Amino acid sequence: MPRIRPIRTEAIVLRQRPLGDADRICVLFSPNRGRIEAVAKGVRKPLSKLSGHVEPLSRGQFGLAHGRSLEVVTDAQTLDSWPALHEDVDRMTEALAMAELVDRSTDFDVASGALYQLLRHSLDELTTSSSPRSVRWWFVLRFLDQQGYRPELDSCVRCRNEVGPEGNGFSAVDGGVVCPTCHGSGVGQRLSSAVFRLLRYMRRSSCESTAQVRVDADASAELERHLRLSLEQALDGRLRSSGFAESLARAETIGRSAASSAAERVQEEQKHAAI
Ligand SMILES: [Zn+2]
Repeated sequence: MPRIRPIRTEAIVLRQRPLGDADRICVLFSPNRGRIEAVAKGVRKPLSKLSGHVEPLSRGQFGLAHGRSLEVVTDAQTLDSWPALHEDVDRMTEALAMAELVDRSTDFDVASGALYQLLRHSLDELTTSSSPRSVRWWFVLRFLDQQGYRPELDSCVRCRNEVGPEGNGFSAVDGGVVCPTCHGSGVGQRLSSAVFRLLRYMRRSSCESTAQVRVDADASAELERHLRLSLEQALDGRLRSSGFAESLARAETIGRSAASSAAERVQEEQKHAAI
């Protein structure tokens, strides 16, 4: 069998899990090879050279060699650790939700340059945004677009008539807005004019501009519902079977606890580093 040469790639660490006593399996997301699972050996031992460079939600350059079953991280160098994400529960919650969406929707050895750039840009925005949840909404809309499920917001997905902002429905199954007449016959869930306008604004605006829009609790809950159903539709059984879409809905609780523990771990490590 021909020997495969080690490669170097830029990647974002989506998550990691322990392996044996001293190692971790890192799930990396790279622009050219998609999702990669690689073992970081000895990374849980004190003085490991790798340990600071394979933290979830960091971006780096990785050397990878083929191991017996998984790839092995031979060296790593952090390019961006996004410290602001790790120090703030709200930012971490949204970052984890975006990373999980990428994790569960990409495959090994599939070039994913556009999605990589979208995730990287969104994580950058998240470090400074005054509205972390808006960054995720903005990200999800573009994620849907990249997956070929851009929500139709200009004309009714049933009768093709142009729509105004009032009295519409939203049908994730049909892929977008439903006019008042079709909605009146029972198609789609209610789409308030506030969320209709917000969706259209987010679609054409920068992430930064989207974060400036004030969104009340009702509109936020409604938007989350439409986005969640659209994600389920776009990713079909893949997310539904994993329960991920539901976990997005519970992000307020699950994400917060995961984010809290992640933030606490980082603070703990910083404390030890200071000692
Ligand atoms: Zn219609």
